[in-house]
Amino acid sequence: MIYLDNNATTPVDPDALEAMLPFLREGFANPSGAYAAARATGQAVAHARAQVADLLSCEPDSIVFTSGGTESDNTAIHSAIRCYPERRHLVTCATEHPAVLVPMEHLRDREGYDLTILAVGADGRIDLEDLRAAIRPGETALVSLMWANNETGVIQPVPEAAAIADSLGVLFHTDSVQAAGKIDLDLPKTKVHYAAFSGHKFHAPKGVGALYVRPDVRFRPLLEGGGQESARRSGTENVAGVVALGAAAAAAARQDHRSVAALRDRLESELRAALDGVHLNGSAEHRVPNTASLRFDGTDAEGLLVVLDRAGVCCSAGSACHTGSLRPSPVLTAMGLTTAQARSTLRLSLSRFTSMEDIDHATCSLIGAVKKLRAQRPSGGPVLAAPK
Ligand code: PLP
Repeated sequence: MIYLDNNATTPVDPDALEAMLPFLREGFANPSGAYAAARATGQAVAHARAQVADLLSCEPDSIVFTSGGTESDNTAIHSAIRCYPERRHLVTCATEHPAVLVPMEHLRDREGYDLTILAVGADGRIDLEDLRAAIRPGETALVSLMWANNETGVIQPVPEAAAIADSLGVLFHTDSVQAAGKIDLDLPKTKVHYAAFSGHKFHAPKGVGALYVRPDVRFRPLLEGGGQESARRSGTENVAGVVALGAAAAAAARQDHRSVAALRDRLESELRAALDGVHLNGSAEHRVPNTASLRFDGTDAEGLLVVLDRAGVCCSAGSACHTGSLRPSPVLTAMGLTTAQARSTLRLSLSRFTSMEDIDHATCSLIGAVKKLRAQRPSGGPVLAAPK
């Protein structure tokens, strides 16, 4: 299997797996207990917190463990509206993940909040002046802008956007799920107030993640109960998952992003050399190193996926959530792509476990698949301009 779908999920790092296994066996004690075995699991959680904080260059106290990206995003939104109940306006962007967009749309549709959804350009990025104009000091409860997009890998100007929100006295959250482990995130250097992370996007298991909460910022928990995580997220800790998250964060901190970018660039240049009508969606410059969102004129992604699957190559059409749906990706259409262009797009996403051989095999299979689909078109041959 050639796995090029790492933005959907990643394989667990063998070191992270080794680190977590003892906590599924003998190290099962509840960290809240008052005996030595419980203190040991508590210390393991504390160590993992320090490892995650190290990846983000922040203090361990700023890290709240959660069940993953969706919970972290929902917690940030919930916290903002509870901290500022009199503020009834929210700002986000058209290419956000459903973990942000759906709760915000529900607040608009069910609770009467006013929601501004910022447009993006063809490069997938917002205009900072649009953001400045959208914020209503004293009325906006939260600005939420993702750091890197899951479908295109496009990086938003998060430090600049956070500085604008902060200067206007508004909370700023960033969904950093696709940025962690791919670019350097020095959170305390920014004015980011909340940031969401998900373990399974950087080689920890599924079902564990984190929320960064800036120390001097107001916070109200989503999950209340036993008071774990300093009363910021109740529920008995997922000790094994948290330990794996810490180990995966430590491995991500050691990673050289350039080697992944070099493989991704090789894939793109070889495809372009062999095929006409191959286009990159979104900014080439402001992009995480592992992602290529490519459209192939005269093809449809669903057809390509079938041929690639037979060749053992795993990738996706748009995001995992949209695969199998007839609706074109809202992220790509927000960037101005036509339905046909969006439907001819594949997302290829690498990780540090991707090898040169994987890339060469995938390139070869993809070239074959594109040629095959183009040859099957009723008109024959490639269609270079996708119809509107
Ligand atoms: N945010 C982004 C940008 C994502 O890509 C994902 C997962 O696809 C999530 C949030 C949700 O994360 P999780 O699967 O950990 O709930």
